[in-house]
Amino acid sequence: ANTYGIKEWGADYFDLSPSGEVVVRTTSETGQTETSLLDIIRGAEARGLGMPLLLRIENLLDQQITRLNESFSQAMKDSGYTGSYQGVFPIKVNQQAQIIEEITRFGSRFNHGLEAGSKGELMIALSMIQSTKSLIVCNGYKDPEFIDLGLQTTRMGYKVFFVIETPTELPIILERSNALGIEPLIGVRIKLSSRGSGHWQDSGGDNSIFGLTTSQVVDVMDLLKKHDMLHCLQLLHYHLGSQIPNIRDIRTAVRETARYYADMVREGAPMGYLDLGGGLAVDYDGSKTNFVHSKNYSLDEYTADVVEVLMSVLDERSVAHPTVITESGRATVSYCSILLFNILDVTQYTPGRFPETEPDDAPESIRNMYEVRRTLSVRNLQECYNDAIYYREEIREEFEYGKITLRQRALADNLFMDIIHQIADLLKKVKRPPRALEELQEGLYDIYYGNFSVFQSLPDVWAIDQIFPVMPIHRLNEQPRRKAILADITCDSDGKIDTFGAVHDIQKSILLHEPRDDEEYYLGVFLVGAYQETLGDLHNLLGDPHVVSVRINSDGGFEFVREIEGDSIADVLSYVEYQPKDLVENFRRKLEQAVRDGRLSVAQRRTLLQAYETGMRGYTYYER
Ligand code: PLP
Repeated sequence: ANTYGIKEWGADYFDLSPSGEVVVRTTSETGQTETSLLDIIRGAEARGLGMPLLLRIENLLDQQITRLNESFSQAMKDSGYTGSYQGVFPIKVNQQAQIIEEITRFGSRFNHGLEAGSKGELMIALSMIQSTKSLIVCNGYKDPEFIDLGLQTTRMGYKVFFVIETPTELPIILERSNALGIEPLIGVRIKLSSRGSGHWQDSGGDNSIFGLTTSQVVDVMDLLKKHDMLHCLQLLHYHLGSQIPNIRDIRTAVRETARYYADMVREGAPMGYLDLGGGLAVDYDGSKTNFVHSKNYSLDEYTADVVEVLMSVLDERSVAHPTVITESGRATVSYCSILLFNILDVTQYTPGRFPETEPDDAPESIRNMYEVRRTLSVRNLQECYNDAIYYREEIREEFEYGKITLRQRALADNLFMDIIHQIADLLKKVKRPPRALEELQEGLYDIYYGNFSVFQSLPDVWAIDQIFPVMPIHRLNEQPRRKAILADITCDSDGKIDTFGAVHDIQKSILLHEPRDDEEYYLGVFLVGAYQETLGDLHNLLGDPHVVSVRINSDGGFEFVREIEGDSIADVLSYVEYQPKDLVENFRRKLEQAVRDGRLSVAQRRTLLQAYETGMRGYTYYER
């Protein structure tokens, strides 16, 4: 069966069951268990939560935090690194309360902290952090209010680092610190000259809009020395960009940063923390390459390389090993969320019925098209393709000038599509098909309409052509035979998924099963836990889908630990400043007028008003 590369991108969390369903594999003290996603869907539907559904599996979040922390600990132990690892989760990557609650709850055993990039995120961090041993790293713009809040919480024992991103920040921090009589913990973010490849390469490198240049770092140290506060400078930070696919770029950046670190120690700053930012990539297409949607390293290679490069630079200069911080967001949360939806309809790219031989009244152009079909063979594919295109154009023109009827045009369209299909079939017998015809094959696909919105749930698919693994979550013992792309229900021509990551390849379509009348066909988009939820928008007023958080037990059973109903129509209308109550009242008045005018009976008025009110409370997606 086509496995859709699940073994390659599934990171051992997702696999196929013998009965042909996607299972999620979780680990507990008693071993591993497998749970079918279809069972979870059935459980959600029984609770009244239909498709689409954003499913969060808490265990996977816990397991990723564990993998990250344990991998760093092991790498440090193996190489005799004397510092330690302390991760922080960058809130921007997924700000949802459930996610942050779980990260801080579970992460407290590793003192896993949070990174805040704005005032709002600082508010989340200060309230949600569970252990005073966990770090709060503040990046981004910081106004006096932000700084005051952060400074004062250090009195409560919290370690709140202010990372200086622009030269103007330090004087404000010093001023507020002086006013409040509280010493700050200061870090600096540097612009590296090395930069990673991939989508976000501009976040790092000389042209990065964030971070200090070498001379600005020197100015920071000088200003701190002048105020006798160099001892507050304890952290060095860079962020190379998200999703760095090539380990070589990571090694280069760590090496450059280690040199900065060593020199800052030499300048007399106590330091102690080295924050390597995010960038740890996710293998979305399963190719394990340095392609933008993949990565050519494992987690263990990443941690071992970071530790090795750091030690090689710092040991040479006899600098004590710092606590390593990473701000891994994508790699931490991607796996735990899956977007599940059902297929509502399919448009098949197949010809309708047409007579085997030309009708007596067929015009010349249609007779010619029949002739192309009769003469088609492996030897004249390109010629027949050109002719078919030519006659189709001729027929379209004739239709435009009223020379042929709608029925004749429909016959010609079916005939053309049949010829194209036959060419595509014959192409399989040709060793080296002409290039133009290869493209023809790519264009022959069905459109599967999915009950979801790309703009709401997968904004990166639209905005940056992000590839996520997409596959049916059941019927995987059956051979899928339909070549398809996916369209959402926004009716926007960009509301589609038409690029799929195949292992070592990118494909313009995916093989899917023929939907059955008596059974829903469910698809999942995997690894969607990072960046997608809050970047999503209300295009066509399709709102948040239902969200359920599931915890899988050691016996493979599961609990619905949280259920959040998706937006209702009233919710999304109020987001764009309508008052649902006023809308109902307006509509009620219109109905009353219609009764007065004799267009509606009172009973009809009542039915219509009820339908309007029920619609207002309903889900924004297609409800069966
Ligand atoms: N840290 C900073 C400063 C960021 O801007 C980002 C996002 O790009 C991250 C961390 C998270 O990066 P990633 O999701 O690649 O781990």
